[in-house]
Amino acid sequence: MKDDEGIRGLTRRRWLLSILVTAIVVLSLVTIFAFLPRTSPPVNNPADLILFNGTVLTMEPEDSEKEAVAVTGSHIVAVGTDAQVLALRGDSTSTIDLGGRTLLPGFIDSHGHRIGDRDELTSQAVIQGALAEGWTSLSELFVDQGRLDDLRTLDEAGDLRIRVNAYLPLSWQLERFGTWYQAYEPGQEFSPNLRIGGVKIFVDSWLWGELLFSQSELNELVAEAHEAGYQIASHTTVDESLDLILNAYENALQGASNELYRHRAEHVVMVRDDQLERMRELGIVASFQLTWFHSNWAEAVETELLTEDVGKVARWHDLLEAGVHAIGGTDFPYGIPATSSALEAIHQAVTRMGDQGIPPPSWMLDQRIRVEQALRLLTIDAAYGTAQEKVKGSLVEGKLADLVVLSENPLTIPVEQFPDIDVLLTVIGGTAEHCLEYIFLCEESHAAGSVDKVTVKGMESNASLASDSSGIELTVLPAAESRYAVPEPARPAIMG
Ligand SMILES: [Zn+2]
Repeated sequence: MKDDEGIRGLTRRRWLLSILVTAIVVLSLVTIFAFLPRTSPPVNNPADLILFNGTVLTMEPEDSEKEAVAVTGSHIVAVGTDAQVLALRGDSTSTIDLGGRTLLPGFIDSHGHRIGDRDELTSQAVIQGALAEGWTSLSELFVDQGRLDDLRTLDEAGDLRIRVNAYLPLSWQLERFGTWYQAYEPGQEFSPNLRIGGVKIFVDSWLWGELLFSQSELNELVAEAHEAGYQIASHTTVDESLDLILNAYENALQGASNELYRHRAEHVVMVRDDQLERMRELGIVASFQLTWFHSNWAEAVETELLTEDVGKVARWHDLLEAGVHAIGGTDFPYGIPATSSALEAIHQAVTRMGDQGIPPPSWMLDQRIRVEQALRLLTIDAAYGTAQEKVKGSLVEGKLADLVVLSENPLTIPVEQFPDIDVLLTVIGGTAEHCLEYIFLCEESHAAGSVDKVTVKGMESNASLASDSSGIELTVLPAAESRYAVPEPARPAIMG
C-alpha cells in the first residue's frame, strides 16, 4: 500500500510539473509569434526541398496532375498546388522553379542486367548512365553469389547510387544452382539501395526456346522457393513454357492469392488467348520488355515462326486489355539493338518503330500501347512487380522521394520527339544524383522571395566525381543515343 501511495504521489508531482512546463512553452511560443514579422509566417516543419511551377504527373489513379512536390529527408511530404506546397518553405528549404517542366516518379526498370552484364565499363559508369536516363530503380535478373558480393561491396562503399532489386538464379539452361539463395531472406534489405527481390528460373532458352524442365521437376523447384516465401521470376518465351510455369505457380499457390507473392513471367514473348485469361485469374505478373519486338525484329520473327504463331508474339496491348498485372523493363543490354533509355523504350512500345525506319507490320501495330500505359509500366506498375508499390512508383505524401524531371511532357508532345526529351534531374531518396542543366536547376532557383540561391544535396558529390581522375565519365549523351557500345550476340552468354 505504501508503495502504491508513493507511486501516486510521484505521478501527481509529475502531472503538476508537466502542466507547468506546458504553460511555459505556450507562453514563450506566443511571445515568439508576436515578435515575428508578419511577412514571413513561421513554418512548423519546413521541407528540405521544394520543386514547384511544374507539371507533376503523380501516376496516382485519380487527380493525377499537380504543380509542386515537397521533400524532407528521403521522403515526399507534400504534393499539390504551388500555394499548398510552398507553404512548407522555410529559411532552410531549397527550392527549384521547374519553369513548367514535367516531374514524374523516377523510372523503374523491372528487368535488366545493367550492372551484372556490363562489358568493360565500371559499375559506377553504368550507374551514372542509368541515372542520366532517369532510372531510379533497377531489377537485376541474374545476381549470382559473385555479383551479389560485388553489389554489396559497391553499396557499402556508398557507390550504389541507385536502388537495386537482386534476383538470385536457381537455374541457367540445364544447370541447377541448388538452394544457395536460401542464405538470404526473401525481401532482405541490405540498405535502402540494395534488396533481395526474389529468385529467377529459366523455363526455356532464348528465344524460341526448348523447354528446360519437365512439369514435375519445375513444380518441385517452384514449390520449394514459394514455400520459403520468395518471389519467383521465370524466363518464358514460348507459350508451351508459359503453360509449364503457370501450372507450377497454380500448384504452389494452392488457391492462395498471388498478391502476397507476385510471382512473375518474364518476357511472355508468345501468349495464347486462354493464357491471357489464366494469367489474369491467377494474378501472375507479366514482365515484358518495352524495347522488344519493334520493327527491327519483324523479319526475324516472320522467318523463324509459323504464320499462326506470329500472332501470339509480343501482345503487350492484349495483356493490358485482359487486365493482367503487367510491368515494364528493357532487359538491357539485350535487344536489337540494345535500348537503355526509358524514353526510347516508351517510344518503341507506343510506336513499335525500331531505329532502322522499317514500318511495323500490322501484328505489331495492333499491339501498340498508349503513352500513359507505358509510363505506368515503368513507374507504379513496376513498383508492384517488386511488391514495393506502397513505398515508391507514384508521387504521394509518405513515399520515397525518387523523382525525375523531364524537359517535355510525354503526354502532350508528339511521340516522335520522345527520344529528344532531356532528363534534367534525377533525385533518389531526396538526393539529386543527376543534374543536366544544373546551373539552372540545381545551383540557382528562379523563385522570388528570400531563398534565391540554393544547392541541392548531392551536387557536391557529383561535382567532385566530375573532377577526379577515376575515369567516371559524366558527359550526358542525348537520350536517343545508347550510352554503351554493347555488342549484339546472337545467343548471349546469359540471356533473359
Ligand atoms: Zn534478362
